[in-house]
Amino acid sequence: MAARAPATLEDSVLRLAGVGPSVAAALEKLGLKCIRDLVFHLPSRYQDRTRITPIAAARPASEVVVEGVVEASHVQFGKRRSLVVRMADDSGELGLRFFYFNRAQQLRLEVGRVLRCFGEVRRGPHHLEMIHPEVQVLDDAQPLPAEAALTPIYPTTEGLHQARLRKLVLQALEVLIRAGEVHDEVDDFIARHWSGPRPLPRLAEALIYVHRPPPAVSVETLWEGDDPAQQRLAIEELLSHQLTLRQLRQRAHNFEAAQLAPAPGLRQGLLAALGFTLTGAQQRVVGEIDGDLALARPMLRLLQGDVGAGKTAVAALVAGNALAAGLQVALMAPTELLAEQHGRTLGRWFGALGIEVVMVTGKQTGRVRKESRARIATPGPRLFVGTHALFQDDIRFADLGLVIVDEQHRFGVDQRLALLEKGAAGARRPHQLIMTATPIPRTLAMTAYADLDVSVLDELPPLRTPVRTSVLPDARREAIVERVASLCREGRQAYWVCPLIEESEHLDSQAATDTALALAESLAPLQVGLIHGRMLEKDKQAVMGAFVAGQIDLLVATTVIEVGVDVPNASLMVIENAERLGLSQLHQLRGRVGRGQARSDCVLLYQAPLSETARHRLQVMRDTTDGFVIAERDLELRGPGEVLGTRQTGVAGFRIADLSRDRALLPLVQRMADELLRSAPALVSRLLERWVVQRIDYAKV
Ligand code: ADP
Ligand code: MG
Repeated sequence: MAARAPATLEDSVLRLAGVGPSVAAALEKLGLKCIRDLVFHLPSRYQDRTRITPIAAARPASEVVVEGVVEASHVQFGKRRSLVVRMADDSGELGLRFFYFNRAQQLRLEVGRVLRCFGEVRRGPHHLEMIHPEVQVLDDAQPLPAEAALTPIYPTTEGLHQARLRKLVLQALEVLIRAGEVHDEVDDFIARHWSGPRPLPRLAEALIYVHRPPPAVSVETLWEGDDPAQQRLAIEELLSHQLTLRQLRQRAHNFEAAQLAPAPGLRQGLLAALGFTLTGAQQRVVGEIDGDLALARPMLRLLQGDVGAGKTAVAALVAGNALAAGLQVALMAPTELLAEQHGRTLGRWFGALGIEVVMVTGKQTGRVRKESRARIATPGPRLFVGTHALFQDDIRFADLGLVIVDEQHRFGVDQRLALLEKGAAGARRPHQLIMTATPIPRTLAMTAYADLDVSVLDELPPLRTPVRTSVLPDARREAIVERVASLCREGRQAYWVCPLIEESEHLDSQAATDTALALAESLAPLQVGLIHGRMLEKDKQAVMGAFVAGQIDLLVATTVIEVGVDVPNASLMVIENAERLGLSQLHQLRGRVGRGQARSDCVLLYQAPLSETARHRLQVMRDTTDGFVIAERDLELRGPGEVLGTRQTGVAGFRIADLSRDRALLPLVQRMADELLRSAPALVSRLLERWVVQRIDYAKV
């Protein structure tokens, strides 16, 4: 029998012990096909099973190992039968709760037994508890040793257990170690550019380190990310991401596009229809976009402009270029609410010039739906305004010249690409303009949007009085309710936002519902409305419609109203638990007021006591209304613990890099990308092979 050659990194995962067709299929769902892919499948976090935490020191939401004696154990009947155990160590008591258990397990957890449990600690009805912890019954004679090092936790998929995945990764690491002799030129390239205080390990070492952290390393160290192994990997991932986006841009530029110069007549007509004079920034940005549209290749431009900077007018003016050339334009908003708002505004501006504005939303049915589809299939200068319904499968545009995406952070890269495909005609693609009110500092923008050109609307229209912001402890709530009452009695309107209290949309909606009831009672006969994420789209619409129409005085909401809503008569924004929100989110919420003539106020309520960081944050909100300043400060203030949610930078999907935590690396990464593209195409392909971002599908570009 011929000995099989040892597996290489290029081999299929099927070469690993324990991988048959079904495991291979599960791995493929994670994008893992060859052994190398497994090596680059990095832990998303770590569990610390290396030490035993005294019960009293366990914090809610942390995962810990505790040890103690069972003091009580009984089956509780109620909505759901559960086994409830109380255990204690010298420092305190902890509840354990099991919903699935049998008689044998119940006996195992009898009073007097010594247990070691691992699980997430949560607040229970009486004391802290763990739900379905992993339990070991300890034999007094032979205490089990704790784990020597941190346990990596991998992103996985249904049917593929952590433990199995961990074993497969370890096997893959063996293959890597055997291949370790192989010289990696990327290591040399990075070493040549690196000038940090500590030398970076080579790629193979760094990979082994993050998969099997040495015993002394703590979870905190790994969060902070300034470990050389993590930096080595972060540099490589950021570099690959950068190269991917730049290639994407190059490919997009190989397509053709219609050359769309502004038509003087239509432009003049629109400017007159707007009813205001453009700001200097609006004029400049329109000029930048005109320049792109005049070229024979598709524009890929991001327009960043703070809330209220007037992006809609810019969109209308440049849409005019395509319409004047007889082409279709599609403008997509993230919600029906915003689509309708745009439909009204643009309908007014273009209606005056005899250009049709057609709504395309998911809720359209029957005749209306048929008609909007027919319009889409017919060539001619029309402006389609809608939600993502605009790029559903059954939609074929006859002759799409320009796509405008509003409030981009709700759309990912792949959706950007799907949209581009929507208007494909041979080698021709529509121009793309993406608009966002989420200010992103320049270094970040260059990284996150390396496939786009960026324009910035950095001036607000005149005659706006900046929103006045005050920061108050929750104890002042009654006075605020009084203020809402007197304001509403004067015919103005207000928002009251109850943000996420737990990481659960359900509890979130509950908090908003309770608050709305309480406020309705104290404010009667004023009308209090409620809007939250768990409501049906049509109910949200109805509530929002009533608020726009002035039938609701105070709108209680979760953070669903964050984006784009424009109700100029609303002049007070109250945000509860403001200390829990990121600065950018607070800024977006505050941007819902100050849109009319009246002076507007924002009240940030907090629960005392405030942490040092929270105090700083709220102070920033009080001191400035400039979105870019806020974004910069946000990045500086967010500590490593808070960076975990990439939500705020709007660019998720990194395995190890974190745009905020690792931003000091970005200029270096830019320089490296330039040099590689100029002089080392072979290394570029090697990097892309290792890290290729799954969500970017080249075939579609
Ligand atoms: P955003 O950039 O947040 O999308 P909008 O386009 O909704 O902002 O504009 C906000 C408000 O400012 C709208 O009521 C709009 O009509 C008004 N506006 C826009 N540009 C100007 C301008 N140059 N002068 C006066 N008002 C303007
Ligand atoms: Mg807008």
